[in-house]
Amino acid sequence: MRLDMRALLAQAKAQAKRSGKTRYGPTDRIVTLNMGLGRDSVAMLCLLAEGKLVAQGRKLSPSDIDAVVFSDTGAEWLHTHGIVPKVAALCRRLGVPFYMLSKPSDAACALYLDEAADLRTEARSEGIKAKLGSIRHWRKKTGKSIEQKARIGWYHLLPPIRDDYYSRATIASRAKADCTENHKVAAIRKLIDDLSRARFGVGNRGWSALVEAGEALPHLSLVGIAADEPSRVVHMHPLDPPATRTPPTPRKGQPLIPRFTSVHRPWKYPKGRKNSRTWSERPGGWPGPWYVTEAYPLVELGVAKDDEQAILDRHGFGGTYKSGCWLCPHQPVGWFWVLREAAKGNKQAKKHADPRWWGSVVEYERAALEANPNMKVIGSYPSIPIAVERWRAKNPRATIEEVMQKDYARGGSGECTTGECDHLDAAIAASRIKTRRR
Ligand code: SF4
Repeated sequence: MRLDMRALLAQAKAQAKRSGKTRYGPTDRIVTLNMGLGRDSVAMLCLLAEGKLVAQGRKLSPSDIDAVVFSDTGAEWLHTHGIVPKVAALCRRLGVPFYMLSKPSDAACALYLDEAADLRTEARSEGIKAKLGSIRHWRKKTGKSIEQKARIGWYHLLPPIRDDYYSRATIASRAKADCTENHKVAAIRKLIDDLSRARFGVGNRGWSALVEAGEALPHLSLVGIAADEPSRVVHMHPLDPPATRTPPTPRKGQPLIPRFTSVHRPWKYPKGRKNSRTWSERPGGWPGPWYVTEAYPLVELGVAKDDEQAILDRHGFGGTYKSGCWLCPHQPVGWFWVLREAAKGNKQAKKHADPRWWGSVVEYERAALEANPNMKVIGSYPSIPIAVERWRAKNPRATIEEVMQKDYARGGSGECTTGECDHLDAAIAASRIKTRRR
């Protein structure tokens, strides 16, 4: 659908005027630190506390950050939730708001899933998307503060990730990466909309118009991607400083110094061409939203995975585990074994996983396989239980702690991540971009 750009821009300017802002400098943007509660994003927070964090060539202090935000997929490991109080305490000390975007209540999700199932059978061909919006009852509560909205699940469009996919007899797939988009990125961007309205009187749509007209910079999300994972970096926004569009090659032991200078160079449409909203007419076919872009401070600083331990240790986060969903198709097979051990009552495993999750993930895959025999969670293995059985036979001595310390697969078998959750197969970065719509 083509939007009336001029009307949108005029509306945004009027809104901005009402809020007392008519011109925007390079620091007039919402900056969020996307906190997956894993090692990369916690390392970013530690560097912020030390005054060493850099994004797009600019040193950031805590007062530059509008929010540290964690979007809960509803299937996070226990150790991930375990560090929330420590992260919240550090944010408090730094004076930066920490928002945990929880999923809606069980009752609200059950009602949604029930009504969605009816809709799917009744209205398959009649634009089900719009209809699903009308049954998100938890989003109808208005007049709440950001904190209250974060608590009641207002920022999420979908129930917990496992229930979402299970209800559709499908799985979070390696090939699509829509799980991160729907359960992490979308919620964070709704929060950015609220933060932008509160600070500038203009929401995401209006901010897009201002950015596209070259009158404001896109908001900035800081994403925790280590310097030795350049395949996870996606610099696509036309207003990203040119020097940051290609990630530098990391060098071990690199000093923490900024290497980029930020230049605001608004992209202009060729002379004589009208502004257009069609994606194909944008530079490089870039289809993302105008209102926000991403920066990768660890990449800019040359902080590789091995460098993170020292940074985490300095702030008492040395024992931080990798974060992610316990049903993630990218995680090592051993992590599924930990789920099985927790179900058997293994005390060590129960520190990481709820005993009910093993049955839950097995059933989730079973339902998907019944609908489509190709919906295997773990690569070529016929099912999770078989994969775990074979893995254990090959690794009879592995302990829970050894397994949980293990990083995700790198390279060919699926390096994952968008940074928000630490996972995205490098090969699907392109599909991630395709799903970004205003
Ligand atoms: S952790 Fe895995 S399953 Fe969860 S959102 Fe990220 S890629 Fe998807």
